[in-house]
Amino acid sequence: MEREREQKFHELFEALVECATRFESYNRDEFVRYIILLCKLLRVEKGVTEFYRSESHRKRGDGIINCDYDTGRGDYIAYEREFSTKTGAIISAEVYMSSEEPPLSTDELHKVDLVMRAIISFIARNRMAMTIEQVGFYDEAGYPNLRYLVRSVDQHDFNGELSDYAAMHFNLRHFSVINQDIGRALGDVVMRNYINALKEAAGEGGTFCRAGGDNFTALFPKEKMDAVLKVIRGIPVCYDTKGEKRVNVSASAGVFMIPDGFEWSNAGSIMDKVMPASMLARRGDTSTVVFCNEEMMKARDRIMQIQRVFPHAIEAEEFRVFYQPKVDIRDGRIVGAEALCRWFHDGKMVSPGEFIPVREQNTDICRLDFYMLDMVCRDIRRWIDEGREPVRISVNFSRKNLVDLDLQEHILEIIDRNNVPHGLIEIELTETTTDVEFRDLTRVATGLRTEGIYTSVDDFGMGYSSLNLIREIPWDVLKIDRCFLPDDCDSENGVTALMYKHVVSMALDIGLECITEGVETAKQLELLSVNNCHIAQGFFFDRPLPLAEFEAKLGQRYEISLPSKS
Ligand code: C2E
Ligand code: MG
Ligand code: MG
Repeated sequence: MEREREQKFHELFEALVECATRFESYNRDEFVRYIILLCKLLRVEKGVTEFYRSESHRKRGDGIINCDYDTGRGDYIAYEREFSTKTGAIISAEVYMSSEEPPLSTDELHKVDLVMRAIISFIARNRMAMTIEQVGFYDEAGYPNLRYLVRSVDQHDFNGELSDYAAMHFNLRHFSVINQDIGRALGDVVMRNYINALKEAAGEGGTFCRAGGDNFTALFPKEKMDAVLKVIRGIPVCYDTKGEKRVNVSASAGVFMIPDGFEWSNAGSIMDKVMPASMLARRGDTSTVVFCNEEMMKARDRIMQIQRVFPHAIEAEEFRVFYQPKVDIRDGRIVGAEALCRWFHDGKMVSPGEFIPVREQNTDICRLDFYMLDMVCRDIRRWIDEGREPVRISVNFSRKNLVDLDLQEHILEIIDRNNVPHGLIEIELTETTTDVEFRDLTRVATGLRTEGIYTSVDDFGMGYSSLNLIREIPWDVLKIDRCFLPDDCDSENGVTALMYKHVVSMALDIGLECITEGVETAKQLELLSVNNCHIAQGFFFDRPLPLAEFEAKLGQRYEISLPSKS
């Protein structure tokens, strides 16, 4: 080979190797350009490389074939080589020449070999890096994973632009229903298209990764917030090629606007912010999109504090039973009471609204319910022993107890240990929405009834009440929630009043004892009276009272003046 070509070859080969080993910015176009120039210099007409992950992939023809240079004149193979990597991958290369050209000299063949080996070793390393990327930063369905997100947060932090971004965690709403309706395979298509719509809305700076199931976490420029939230709130998504089959998809989302100077250390620092907001959004009490704010972080700290101190609170006897009287409105007699829990901690009283929902996240609540029942039984026993006239006391039992197959035995053990007549105890359970709970509820209510213990449906009407619930489960008492009770300013013939009337009459007709909760005004009391609901519980008579105050009222009557019914 003459000197000039020799020198040119070395220049190009060096450039090729430099380009292939450039660490931070590999440029495929540049790489291919050098290959083409080298092919021309060596009189090669066509170069082909093949990559197979394994021998079986090769047999199936499932690989990646590259041909970046082909003049169309190559008619015989002048060079071929095959390598297999340690992982079993196979990389092969072929070089074609034209029979119209003189064959390659030994020196030229050596140079072709050098170039092809450089290319093959580059492919092998590049594929390895791609495999690592695939396994480490994507999930099995091909969505980027949380590590991917962390890497992109790191990158933006490194560039000092993190505060231009918002982080978001979202959950697709009712996705299991969509899967059931159209099948899992098409459900996957819907999910993919929905995420693509979000990506489009978020523009180039958006990163969306799957946190598992139908949960996703995203990072995108704050300026795209409106566009992204529009998709989050719901869009029609096509799932066929013709664009005819569509389904509405929306999500609930927690959003964190990353502030200036935000100290980012790991995935946790951002997840800690978006998760509580996302959980609130998922509950959907106020909105399906919730922005993380100071107040929420304080609430979260409070929840964590409750979780920390609660386990010791029972031992420290920090819980007290308060009794709220149930009154027969025909004569003002106290006919029963509901036991309600109060927590005295650090000199303050914590109301159940604050800690019951936190405790209901696990079965801790059950310990509290048994503790309350035990306290109530002790009080009743003492009243009997002191010669007072005892009344039936109802105790709230969380639905979490339903998974306990021995629940009935546990309840009985406590009542019997305190030697309390079964008929003086009523167990309040709330409505349920799932089939499994429904079966458990039936089992528990039936069991308790055979033991002569009363059961009641608490808060009837507040959730998704089902009439099946009262038809199929042998309750003794229906506690109508105060949401069925019209306010004083509501019309007497309004929907609420009408529903109240019919719920009471249905309950009485099927032989249930009926009580209305949350009675606050004389006008409401009148409504009870008109509709024949004779038992009332509410602030109109008394708030939940400490033990001593309640005891003082036992055996007494409330003054009641109702207009006589005509
Ligand atoms: P609940 O079982 O429906 O209890 C009635 C709630 O309504 C009580 O709130 C009571 O103070 C309140 N209330 C009564 N009359 C009126 C009224 O006229 N107006 C208004 N606005 N409210 C009234 P409390 O004591 O804060 O308890 C809240 C909930 O916490 C209870 O609702 C119950 O679900 C739960 N809870 C309380 N103690 C226990 C317990 O020991 N175990 C379990 N599992 N849950 C409990
Ligand atoms: Mg209750
Ligand atoms: Mg209630």
